[in-house]
Amino acid sequence: MDVDSALAANLAGIAGQDPTGGMHHHHHHHHHMNLSSAVATATAAANVIDPNIGLAPQGGEDIDPKKTCIFCRRSFSHPGSLGRHLDLKRGTRMHPAEAVDQLRGDVKRRGDIVEIKARRAKRAKEYNARDEVKERAKTRRKEKDRSMRAREEAKLNFLNRLGLPALPPHPSFPYMVLYFLPPSQWPHDPPTQETYNQLTLILDPSMHLEDEHFIDWASKAKVAYDNWQQLGKSKKIEVWNREQRSAAEAALGTLTLYDLGRREDWLMDEEKRLIAMEGMQSM
Ligand SMILES: [Zn+2]
Repeated sequence: MDVDSALAANLAGIAGQDPTGGMHHHHHHHHHMNLSSAVATATAAANVIDPNIGLAPQGGEDIDPKKTCIFCRRSFSHPGSLGRHLDLKRGTRMHPAEAVDQLRGDVKRRGDIVEIKARRAKRAKEYNARDEVKERAKTRRKEKDRSMRAREEAKLNFLNRLGLPALPPHPSFPYMVLYFLPPSQWPHDPPTQETYNQLTLILDPSMHLEDEHFIDWASKAKVAYDNWQQLGKSKKIEVWNREQRSAAEAALGTLTLYDLGRREDWLMDEEKRLIAMEGMQSM
């Protein structure tokens, strides 16, 4: 197909005619194009402009429908020139205004619609992405808050489980030794004068002027040691053993040495337990 016959076929298609002939037969349609045939023209013209539907090059010569006027067959070096040509010739006998408008408008709209759709899709995607990010950040924040709350509560629980040792109003001498001396200074056997000397050093009120308790404790230690000296050897062993147990209980509370030794794990387990409990309560 050469340029002329290709364009003739186009024009025939635009007019809704058989491109292989019959152009003369239906010639009157061509001159009395109503609005619906103008739409058909534009649709056909748009199809021509679509490169996918564009005419396949036949007989060697290429026709670029973007650069060729479908009305007068003029070719242009640039699609923009064809546009200007259509604007200029619009309304002439060869270039019916409605058909040109439809063609130009359709070309513009087609492009616009694709662009608008792409823009809308992009915007929606961006928005959704932002929304998802926000939602994820919110969830993370909530989880972090919950985890921090659980951690604080776990620490409190640990401290509460740990003993809260207090000095009784009338403590025994062994209990005062166990209460004020670190375990490394606890005697192997029931405490003696030497232990009392260590205790008085620690409780010396002149070393703790800011804390009046030490005066009271120092005098309590004196009374307790005096009483302790009255006890027989086997009674001393019995009291010493009993008071060591009391000290351990006062220190550990309801925890075990095992719990105390793995306190980090204990805290983590407790934290998990609290979160699981909270999860169950919110169900
Ligand atoms: Zn033209």
